[in-house]
Amino acid sequence: MTQAAPDFDVIVVGSGPAGVSTTFPLLEAGLKVLMVDGGREAKIPPPANSYLNSRASSSGQSEWMLGRDFHALHFAAASSPKFRTPTHSHVFEGFEKSNQIVGEGFVATGSLARGGLSNAWGCGVAKLSASELKDFPFTPEELEPSYESVARRMGVSGAVQDDLSAYFGLDAYADKPIAIDSVQASLLSKYQKKATQLHSLGVKLGRSRVAALSTDRGDRKACDLSGNCLWGCHRKALYSAGDDLQTLRTFSNFFYRPGFVVERVFLKDGLPSIQGQRLSNSTTDSPTLSARKVVLAAGTLATSRLAMLALKIDRPLQMQATPVAAFML
Ligand SMILES: Cc1cc2nc3c(=O)[nH]c(=O)nc-3n(C[C@H](O)[C@H](O)[C@H](O)COP(=O)(O)OP(=O)(O)OC[C@H]3O[C@@H](n4cnc5c(N)ncnc54)[C@H](O)[C@@H]3O)c2cc1C
Repeated sequence: MTQAAPDFDVIVVGSGPAGVSTTFPLLEAGLKVLMVDGGREAKIPPPANSYLNSRASSSGQSEWMLGRDFHALHFAAASSPKFRTPTHSHVFEGFEKSNQIVGEGFVATGSLARGGLSNAWGCGVAKLSASELKDFPFTPEELEPSYESVARRMGVSGAVQDDLSAYFGLDAYADKPIAIDSVQASLLSKYQKKATQLHSLGVKLGRSRVAALSTDRGDRKACDLSGNCLWGCHRKALYSAGDDLQTLRTFSNFFYRPGFVVERVFLKDGLPSIQGQRLSNSTTDSPTLSARKVVLAAGTLATSRLAMLALKIDRPLQMQATPVAAFML
């Protein structure tokens, strides 16, 4: 029996950093790629003036400070202030319900947004260390070309020879640092005078390497120190995979279906297939699409759930995390 022709070469589930980074090389290789995602978009834009000016004189500031529905007051126990900013409400909205994920003893964070959690992330970037990669089936050196192409595409700033160069490991692919203010400059200068003593205590200080622009790139403009990072950057200085999605859409072999929430992955007539629900549609149909390969890039929790369902794994699995908050401190 001949196999049915697939709709696409590859279906990528998710438009976050993982999804877009997977898709660029596939398109460049000439493959026909479909990307599906939750497709949620921002309802409130971030402030366009400097933070202090907006707070002093903007008549519309309650919209992004508090939210039309008092969004900022709803998440008192949130682990990050990003969960409370009205400009990011779309990022986290509806994730657990649509993906049927419940956190017991932890907060299950995920996104159904276009660009995923990278709409709200802190933009801190660093290479994984050799010890973090020790159980992976490749060496840190084999990742180098990927670090280079992803860092250059995202736009990373902070390249300067300092005590954190080795830790971040991205200076070869990064632009100059974003300017610091007088308080930060004074702190750094005091650190440099006492560096030897502080090193003996295990303390190191330096410039942050962040996926935030210090030089313009097309319609993304360099950071102007407006102080609005918490609400999002109207200049697009902060990297979001949603901006890369715009570039992906210029490829003629790229197809995009927002608002398509995948509910299961399975084999149909021998082909990997996805079945899902349309988010913004009142119809109850469950469209099915096939490809030669399906790539799950729906974020750690949603990807794990879909993979476990497909592989019929019903025993508990341990999740692991790297302490991202520590390096941002
Ligand atoms: C407040 C905050 C700060 C952070 N700061 C940092 C930081 O400084 N540095 C750092 O490295 N990381 C940081 N992170 C983590 C970082 O944002 C994530 O690791 C990263 O976004 C994961 O990318 P991803 O593509 O795997 O998934 P996500 O970004 O979660 O994207 C998931 C995609 O899948 C889609 N999707 C989800 N479920 C389905 C489904 N069932 N069907 C179809 N599509 C689906 C969504 O629409 C989305 O497009 C932060 C996260 C948060 C919340």
